[in-house]
Amino acid sequence: MRYLIGRYHEIALKGRNQWRFVDQLKQNLRDIFADYRLGNVRSIGPRLTATLPDDLTDDLAAERAALIFGIQNFSISRAVPRDIESIAREAIARASGNPAKTFRVRTRREDKRYPMTSPEIDREVGALMCEALGLKVDLDDAELTISIEIMNDAALVSAGKMPGAGGLPVGISGRGMALLSGGIDSPVAAYRMMKRGLALDFVHFHAHPLVSPASREKAADLAAHLTRYQARSTLMQVPFGNLQREIVANTLRPLRVVLYRRFMLRIASALAERSGATVLVTGESLGQVASQTLVNMAVIEKAASFPILRPLVGMDKSEIIDQARVLGTFETSILPDQDCCTLFVPAHPETRARIEEVEAAESRFDIPRMIADAVNATEVQRFQFPPRNSAAPSRAAETSR
Ligand code: ATP
Ligand code: MG
Repeated sequence: MRYLIGRYHEIALKGRNQWRFVDQLKQNLRDIFADYRLGNVRSIGPRLTATLPDDLTDDLAAERAALIFGIQNFSISRAVPRDIESIAREAIARASGNPAKTFRVRTRREDKRYPMTSPEIDREVGALMCEALGLKVDLDDAELTISIEIMNDAALVSAGKMPGAGGLPVGISGRGMALLSGGIDSPVAAYRMMKRGLALDFVHFHAHPLVSPASREKAADLAAHLTRYQARSTLMQVPFGNLQREIVANTLRPLRVVLYRRFMLRIASALAERSGATVLVTGESLGQVASQTLVNMAVIEKAASFPILRPLVGMDKSEIIDQARVLGTFETSILPDQDCCTLFVPAHPETRARIEEVEAAESRFDIPRMIADAVNATEVQRFQFPPRNSAAPSRAAETSR
């Protein structure tokens, strides 16, 4: 029998509420393996165990497990009888396919009544492995760690722990609405909030058909990629071109970008209200562009009816780019497009907008009507991972639209 063993770190520090985190984690684990018949999912000590079906390969199981927020590290283990010979035999089998030259054994006993202590098991299994494979023990800097977990009914043996996604189980912190531009920053911002347990809906503002549909398609690709972390997503595609034209026709150049942004936040708030989201998420970083000076951010955020989370606010562009590369969104984000905000953008946008001036400029508009029009024209795209009704694809590109 094979098991996925996911170990949690931060959840283990929770007090009376821990069961809520564990329940969410169990649900998320089931969701990500929804296209396989996963066996019993149990929480034992600071870890979750799930029996893996035979048609699920180790590699695919590991690829999926690495997407589950809340798991610090994981391994794929085999259950064997609890006698030391059976444990050593399995440890030898695990290590013999591995190129490592040095190793160590680390045992944890869930069942403290087991007749040997953990260090005794380490030593005994280690000695049998040295004898069989001619490997060297290195307690401090081993290339391979054999993990043994002594449970009540069996011993679990695995070679190496793989890094998990970390963070908190997605969904445990509630629901947010992430503004996804198609650029580099906003997918990273979304990822960071999902990692803190926030389930997200996405909203993208585009100026199609005034410009090519490129930014729409990029937003959809990014939403599909991010859906791997939360099983289901909704992307709201808001046509924004007409509204921008109306702003352009009625507003002096320097203030236009601030007005675009304020309308985006109003519309995102209206959509958030409908989907049950209680915060907005943006990829803003302090000082990065004209609309992200402290003065402008303060004027812009007044238009939102929910708090705004800006997880990248203190990060440098180069740090954000590094994260986008690791996340796998960078290549999509740099594809050419015409962001709706580059449309009709003045050469010298205001960097210190004054709220009185902005409100005076907005007094010319029928704001409720403009918001209602945008909301009514919004198209909703749904994403799911893993895709239903198909064998077992695992790539983001194959996520259903
Ligand atoms: P990004 O790399 O995410 O595009 P940016 O550095 O280009 O960010 P801005 O263009 O000022 O910065 O946008 C700031 C934030 O506003 C974005 O991170 C995103 O959350 C939101 N935003 C901007 N344009 C759009 C859009 N067309 N649709 C949805 N959200 C947007
Ligand atoms: Mg942008």
